[in-house]
Amino acid sequence: MRCPFCAHDDSQVKDSRPTEDNTSIRRRRQCSSCGARFTTFERVQLREVTIVKSGDRREAFDRSKLEQSVSLACRKRDVSQERIDQLVSGIQRQVETAGESEFASSRLGEMVMDGLRELDSVAYIRFASVYRDFSEARDFEEFASSVQEVAEGDSDSSGVGNG
Ligand SMILES: [Zn+2]
Repeated sequence: MRCPFCAHDDSQVKDSRPTEDNTSIRRRRQCSSCGARFTTFERVQLREVTIVKSGDRREAFDRSKLEQSVSLACRKRDVSQERIDQLVSGIQRQVETAGESEFASSRLGEMVMDGLRELDSVAYIRFASVYRDFSEARDFEEFASSVQEVAEGDSDSSGVGNG
């Protein structure tokens, strides 16, 4: 595995263990050139799926982007990393088992909203408010940059819920 810091082609595995929900293997690595430490995850990928975004743009389904959006929506909320992993893994499984090689970005966004609704009402509202504003022109992945602003202004979450 190439080092993300110095791009050296070799790194050593220092530790290797399954994650809590046992759906992936976490490996701690150390670059044999610069000594930087980083972590990689090994997960099952059932099939390659292309996400079709607005304007007919296409890109490979990327679990880490999905996880980033969910994590941001749940920021500073009482939602464990394990619950986030479960939600993301559930969506990934649905995408990969849908039996289609292409999957609409909007459908993915709806699945995230469905999942967040059950997980945490504030996280759901954060995601939904930004996502719905995107309309046709933008994609839920751009949510990642927008939610930070929303979250900053969200000092008191009481009274929000029962959407
Ligand atoms: Zn390095």
